[in-house]
Amino acid sequence: MLAMDLQAILDDIDAAIRPLLGQEGRAANYIPALARVPVARFGIALRCCDGREAAAGDADTPFSIQSISKLFSLTLAMQLLGETLWQRIGREPSGNPFNSLVQLEHEQGMPRNPLINAGAIAVADRLVSAGRGKQDVLALLASLCGEPLAFDEEVARSEADTGFRNLALANFMKSFGKLDNDVATVLDVYFHQCAIAMSCRQLARAAGYLCRDGAHPLDGSTLVSERQTRRINALMLTCGTYDAAGEFAFRIGLPCKSGVGGGIVAIVPDTLSLCVWSPALDATGNSVLGMRALEMFTARTGLSIF
Ligand code: GLU
Repeated sequence: MLAMDLQAILDDIDAAIRPLLGQEGRAANYIPALARVPVARFGIALRCCDGREAAAGDADTPFSIQSISKLFSLTLAMQLLGETLWQRIGREPSGNPFNSLVQLEHEQGMPRNPLINAGAIAVADRLVSAGRGKQDVLALLASLCGEPLAFDEEVARSEADTGFRNLALANFMKSFGKLDNDVATVLDVYFHQCAIAMSCRQLARAAGYLCRDGAHPLDGSTLVSERQTRRINALMLTCGTYDAAGEFAFRIGLPCKSGVGGGIVAIVPDTLSLCVWSPALDATGNSVLGMRALEMFTARTGLSIF
């Protein structure tokens, strides 16, 4: 693995993807500020456990991390709450769209997992109860990538103005007694964490603790235990890509977390973390070309957890 020319592999993937830009999929249109992002963009970046980095295409262009933030709010909640977190949130794949209400009613307001919207809103509620909030998620990400970061306030506002489903999910959980805090306070955390802007290079770095048994990618300190890290990776594999998790395991074979901003973070345990970005999404909300690029990467490198 370490003998591979990773930069050459990323350059080849970029060259193969670029002619396909703008052909398939559409940017998320239910959040107006995201609908305005030009779709003809592609970036890819990785960081190895030994600190080597490689990047190609629009790897330094910041984009809205959206649901990728759910990994990091979950990490904070696991740090703070340990096992008690699972009293309010399940660990099963949903097989439903990321913002589905149906399942929540069947299961009395207990979200299936922390990586769908209802689950991430429940995680935000736990963070608020523990005296934490959006600034803590931002600070964690900035520390992990070693660079200052900011919320894209326009995206956060756009989500708050049009987040009717998220409001419904939060109110629904509240009605079942599964949210302790005020819905508006919890959603403010959730909308802001989704609106953090980061580049592929920054996200590839930030996710580095997930391929290093929970060790901070830059300073080596313990962020979460090895066991907790395995659990986060397991949740990514089974629940990280909405109702396409089976397809991701089948085609890519790595734990992944996607966001409707078009980013996807993927982990090769003990080896590297990577991030791809291209804003045009398929019907399940996953980046069409991001997924294709990851497939090329695993085919070319032979890396897979299987
Ligand atoms: N902020 C988005 C929402 O709540 C996140 C969706 C996503 O990236 O999956 O709908």
